[in-house]
This record gives sequence, C-alpha cells and structure tokens, in this order.
Amino acid sequence: MFSLRSVAKTYPNATIALDGITAEIAPGEFVALLGPSGCGKSTLLRLLAGLEEPSAGEIGWEHRPGPGDIGFVFQDATLLPWASAEENVYLPLRLRGHKHAEAAPLVAAALAQVGLAEFTKAKPRGLSGGMRMRVSIARALVSDPMLLLMDEPFAALDEFTRHRLQDDLHALWRRSGKTIVFVTHSIYEAAYLASRILVLSPRPGRIAAELRPNLPEG
Ligand code: ADP
Ligand code: ADP
Repeated sequence: MFSLRSVAKTYPNATIALDGITAEIAPGEFVALLGPSGCGKSTLLRLLAGLEEPSAGEIGWEHRPGPGDIGFVFQDATLLPWASAEENVYLPLRLRGHKHAEAAPLVAAALAQVGLAEFTKAKPRGLSGGMRMRVSIARALVSDPMLLLMDEPFAALDEFTRHRLQDDLHALWRRSGKTIVFVTHSIYEAAYLASRILVLSPRPGRIAAELRPNLPEG
C-alpha cells in the first residue's frame, strides 16, 4: 500500500523526531506504531496523513491517495461540540461538496458501523468518552478511506470501554479489509490488535524491532 524509504523528520526547532524510517505496509495490514512517549509515533502518523512533510526520505504510495482516501482519528476525538453525531460525521462529506440527501445514507451507515445507530442526534456533550471516540471513527470511515490512521484512540478510555472499542475495531478490520495504522504506547494493545507491530526507539526515532503477532483465526 505504501513504503517508507529513509523517512526523517526534523522540526524547525531542530528536534529530530524521526531518523531514517524504512518500512513497507501491504494492503489490509493492521499496524501498531509502538514506543515510548516522544519517539515520533504521532509524527510518523501525521507524515502518512500528509499533515506534515518529511524533511528527508520518501513515502511511496501504490495508489496516491486523493481526498477521502485517508481517514484520521485524533487522540482527543475533536468533535464540533454544538453539532450532533450525524452532523459531525457528515462534515468531511459536506466539505467535499456532497449534498445532504446523498450523504445521509453514508453517514447512517458509518455510525451503524461503530454501533451508534441509536445516537445519531446526540450532541458530544451527551455522549460518553468512548462514544465520542466512536463518532470520531465514524467520521474517519464515512468517505470509505483505503487507509485509517488513529492516534492513541484508546488512551483516554476506561478499561471496559477500551476493550469494547478494541474488539469492535478488530471486527471492523476483519470484515472491511481496510488498512489500519494506529499509535499506542501499550504493548498489550499492540499485541492484542495488530497484525504487525513497528517498535520505535526514541532519540532519534528509528524502527527498533518489527513483530508479527500470531493472530488466532476467527
Ligand atoms: P510520540 O507520538 O511518540 O509521543 P511525537 O511524534 O509527538 O512522539 O514527538 C516526537 C518528538 O518531536 C518529541 O521530542 C516532540 O517533543 C517533538 N515534536 C513533536 N511535534 C513537534 C513540533 N510541532 N515542533 C517541534 N517538536 C515537535
Ligand atoms: P491496565 O493495566 O492499564 O488496566 P488493561 O487491563 O485494561 O490495562 O489491559 C491493557 C490492554 O490489554 C488493553 O488496552 C487491551 O489492549 C489488552 N486487553 C486485555 N484484555 C483484553 C480484552 N478482553 N479485550 C480487549 N483487550 C484486552
């Protein structure tokens, strides 16, 4: 799906966040970027999303992603507080000029995919942290992206909510065949969810190890 060739990122303040990341990700992989705080996981995710430019090296795409081909889930859900769940999920389609009538079934399907079919009219304030994260995931899924990027999607959730969302995401991955890359500093989370783990080492961020958990069939 894409390859990273000696990708490096130095910020304007001279912080070297990444130094020579080389990896190849195939379509349908569920990849965890694992490592301690500050090792460049979020930076790598933002490079993949095109939110930052690498300072050296190259990201090569099998099919260059266009608008809507990449879904991004931010760490803190970042929903419009005055808008309902469905209005939040509609937003990326609206920005691309989709009329409400044609978007409505896509919005409903995305919310159903994350188990929120009953909560389309709810405002973020009336939803739990886990449900807000689900809305945010639905917003990333609504344009049917080929690649879903998630920055610590479970970090802010309580244990019960986290496990439920993890199981639901894993099921979604199995049934959709989407490529998913997510950031975590939890080895448990990485081992439980991912088909491949890229372990980053800090200062400067490099790939320290690559693991392929043996996923049970099912
Ligand atoms: P992680 O997600 O693994 O915690 P980050 O990618 O957020 O790591 O950060 C990697 C390093 O780059 C850290 O030292 C961080 O302080 C620094 N950094 C991140 N964003 C910026 C920025 N916009 N400007 C300067 N330094 C940054
Ligand atoms: P903590 O020690 O922070 O309380 P937990 O016991 O919640 O951690 O589990 C840590 C990680 O283990 C979770 O984020 C999850 O990835 C994984 N995990 C353990 N058991 C389960 C489960 N039944 N379903 C999903 N994930 C699980």
